[in-house]
Amino acid sequence: MTVTESAYPDTHNSDDVVIGALALGGQVRAYASRTTQLCAHAQTIHQLSPMAAVALGRLMTGVLLMADQGLKSEPDTITAIIHGDGPLQGMTVVGTGHQTVRGYCYQPVVETINKRPGKLDIAAAVGQGTLTIIKDLNLKEPYMGKVELISGEIAEDLTYYLASSEQTPTAVSLGVLVEASGVTQAGGFMVQLLPDAKPETVDYLEQRLAGFPEVTHLMQEGFSPSQILDLLLGDPHIQFYNPKPLTYACTCSRERMEKNLIALGTHELTELANDPKGINLECHFCNTHYAFAQGDVQKLLTELAT
Ligand SMILES: [Zn+2]
Repeated sequence: MTVTESAYPDTHNSDDVVIGALALGGQVRAYASRTTQLCAHAQTIHQLSPMAAVALGRLMTGVLLMADQGLKSEPDTITAIIHGDGPLQGMTVVGTGHQTVRGYCYQPVVETINKRPGKLDIAAAVGQGTLTIIKDLNLKEPYMGKVELISGEIAEDLTYYLASSEQTPTAVSLGVLVEASGVTQAGGFMVQLLPDAKPETVDYLEQRLAGFPEVTHLMQEGFSPSQILDLLLGDPHIQFYNPKPLTYACTCSRERMEKNLIALGTHELTELANDPKGINLECHFCNTHYAFAQGDVQKLLTELAT
């Protein structure tokens, strides 16, 4: 990573972006992102109701921040799975080391529940449940951690996971604003104390975070991710890394679907091959349909046998 020279390297356009920074004498690292376009894209392809769009948007934004911090190479992935007993039922989100994300809600249309006028009650849609994080760094075994949901508002749940499972004191803030036209603002930040952080720095950060405006509010005022970090950390010597573009991207393909079918094994595949209608598979992450005629399935069965 190279440290950039310009004061705010992410202000020249409004594309989705993540930016990292080092501040307060190297005691704090921070990440901020703008994810408006990818959250709007997810809402469109999955036809999400406002509650689902906000919940999924928050989790995608959070996973992208964690991916920027924790993944080292492009094929690495972080998968976040939320299971809840609320109407949303849950979500799965995958972020990659290539700054892409994909995700879906198990129940894309849920009724709007307001906490107060104009403020959606996401915790009520998620309910009680668990958050599982699978970090695949392409080593022997992926790392897996699982915690109870402590809030259901997503940012607090990721904060709790990072503190309890990864022992990293972190503050996470995530925001997705949905208006009648759909998602209009989305983004977030993540601030982490490095192991040599002094107690004064901890106090200082707590004061800065208390009462800090909501990310979407600052974005509406025209703040870029780096400007949000600057405002939060109040350090004239903050160093920004180069911003990286973020996109919604799926990795599915016909070949992958064939592999999934083969992985079912001879018994199940034989049953499927007996259906003259063939089979239709759909990717949950991007809703692409893959049609396999009976002959295609029989061919896979032959491949499995050889
Ligand atoms: Zn797909």
